[in-house]
Amino acid sequence: MSKHEFKTESKQLLNLMINSIYTHKEIFLRELISNSSDAIDKYNYLSLTDDRLKTEENYEIEIIPNKDAKTITIKDNGIGMTKEELMENLGTIAKSGSKAFIEKLKESKDNVDIIGQFGVGFYSAFMVADKVVVKTKSPYEDTGYVWESTGESDFTIEDLSKNEHGTEITLHLRENDDDESYDTYLEEYKIKELVKKYSDYVRYPITMEVTKE
Ligand code: ADP
Ligand code: MG
Repeated sequence: MSKHEFKTESKQLLNLMINSIYTHKEIFLRELISNSSDAIDKYNYLSLTDDRLKTEENYEIEIIPNKDAKTITIKDNGIGMTKEELMENLGTIAKSGSKAFIEKLKESKDNVDIIGQFGVGFYSAFMVADKVVVKTKSPYEDTGYVWESTGESDFTIEDLSKNEHGTEITLHLRENDDDESYDTYLEEYKIKELVKKYSDYVRYPITMEVTKE
């Protein structure tokens, strides 16, 4: 297992997410589904010209709530990430949107108001989770990896035996605040509502694992 520190800008953004009092934390699901959709787009595009990537017929984004463990998992069979990509993509802020966001943040006194104006991406998971575990495998590498972080100052990466390409992101939901419960994101009706509200445009099937009670 190796331990790595987040880059400064990532720390700033994470710190904001963790301490957020933003009232639309639910957008985390939209951000993760949109990343899954992008990852499937990328796999599909590459598979058209690269023989090493088998033609995938069952693209899918799966949502798996687990009430016992208080986790919600978003799983896709997209392009996944190599170790290098994992370090780069989840350890630094490359995209211009987030950079602009950080800049705005420095100027602004009201953090809450500007979250809604930007697509804050993967780190938005830390608004509702106190631990995030990413299991991923790229079709270009033989082994997969587990990335794990509590969103504080560092993250760990470990090898993982995983056969299928793609990514699985598990959010360990925070304990309830005095005035806010995150358990609502484990409810099937809530997940359906959010998918319909924010992710209706996604071109791939979004399914949910349903447990009988
Ligand atoms: P953006 O989507 O705007 O690039 P994000 O913060 O949402 O920014 O995601 C950062 C990067 O992490 C993505 O660009 C992508 O490279 C990588 N990533 C995130 N989620 C996934 C996923 N499900 N599969 C593959 N790569 C991912
Ligand atoms: Mg994104």
